[in-house]
Amino acid sequence: MISPRTPGETTRPEPRVWNIRQADGRTDAFYLVRLWHHYFGVEYEANWLPYGPYQVAGWDDETEDEDEETREACGVIATHGREDGQAVDVGGGLAELFDHDAMVEQLPDGRFDRDALAGQCNAMLWFGIVDQAWRGYGIGHRLFRARLEWAQARGADMVFSIGWERPEGRTSRPLFEQYDFVPVQRFDGYYRETRDACPDCGVWPNDDRECTCTTTLWARELPFDRLSPSLLEDGDDPSAETP
Ligand SMILES: [Zn+2]
Repeated sequence: MISPRTPGETTRPEPRVWNIRQADGRTDAFYLVRLWHHYFGVEYEANWLPYGPYQVAGWDDETEDEDEETREACGVIATHGREDGQAVDVGGGLAELFDHDAMVEQLPDGRFDRDALAGQCNAMLWFGIVDQAWRGYGIGHRLFRARLEWAQARGADMVFSIGWERPEGRTSRPLFEQYDFVPVQRFDGYYRETRDACPDCGVWPNDDRECTCTTTLWARELPFDRLSPSLLEDGDDPSAETP
């Protein structure tokens, strides 16, 4: 006899309320950099921001130099509305646009022709991170897709990302595969010389070890025909809070 399934028997996590919004302003910019720093060892200092978060903060408006080349960045943040009315950020991601020459410089040196690979307008997906307690709810997927939609809406013809390869645990590989990205090349010890902290392989700034993690460069031509033109709207995800 087969007993009816009850909700308690399912292995899926309880539904949780969260929403995705576009990052905007100084607080959001520093939140994104703290994530980037904590999970990927990117530099973090008070009153200083890397270029993408710098634009998210709106600091770009203060520069009057019109000759300065303007790149564009998009931050997305996942937020949980607590019962007490407070909003808590539970994850975030960042993307940035590069013209052809700037993208060629950004691409790692590998067994491919960087000049041929880079498009005219390129989106780089820098990172997408979800707090440990909030993984498994589809948030990473939404952070990923929101940035793709943004890139596509901005006219990008190529999108790139460096995906961490973890022998155990979660990787972004299924996301890239689901969206038909091509694995261009695998890099062993990709961050050996540039990152002095890596929670994945247990390297910290105060030890002499180097990050030994392996990454894959992923690439995909745009446009996608199945992405919606709207950036952050989505009515078909039951785990997402309706704005
Ligand atoms: Zn590592």
